[in-house]
Amino acid sequence: MPREPSSPDLSVVPAPPAAPVVSGREIDLEAAEQAAGDLLLALGADLDQEGLRDTPRRMAHAYAELLTPKAFEPTTFPNEEGYDELVVATHIEFHSLCMHHLLPFHGVAHVAYLPGERILGLSKLARVVDYFARDIKVQERLTKQDADWLEYHLHPRGVGVVFEAEHLCMSLRGVKKPGTKTITSALHGCLRDDARTRQEFLELVRR
Ligand code: ZN
Repeated sequence: MPREPSSPDLSVVPAPPAAPVVSGREIDLEAAEQAAGDLLLALGADLDQEGLRDTPRRMAHAYAELLTPKAFEPTTFPNEEGYDELVVATHIEFHSLCMHHLLPFHGVAHVAYLPGERILGLSKLARVVDYFARDIKVQERLTKQDADWLEYHLHPRGVGVVFEAEHLCMSLRGVKKPGTKTITSALHGCLRDDARTRQEFLELVRR
């Protein structure tokens, strides 16, 4: 369903959105290992203990792995059949690192789009979740980036993204509420404006 322009001034042509990308990151493993050792020492750890001796190196490598997204080709295909129902992938597992405590948050993502002229290879719906999750960020931004990515590469008639996650910074410390789910969503186009399409997506997510 086409949306009405929010501004009556039709001479203003909005700039096309930029392709969302993971911020370019260079990982200095040596410096990370040194810093991890310093952090452990500052926390009172005895690095001469056999089990801890190699921990700074393992920490550096573990974080490097968690923060290295796997690049992939955003392969799209023409929508030759004129498919005009929702394409939905639900319960895509993901993990990420929260920007405020560098503790993991993890859960599932549900991603949907209503095709326009292009469709996407199905595995890409899961890959895009992984791609943006391997980063230091807040869940709100992760949700928005996934939706923007689909918007940019597919120009679909609608996009719906829902993330449900448990944040260890909420479960283990602070308010200490294990099992609490934080839910964020980004809905564009028909999935935002058309009640029936939105309802269909949210029902599939709740299953
Ligand atoms: Zn946090």
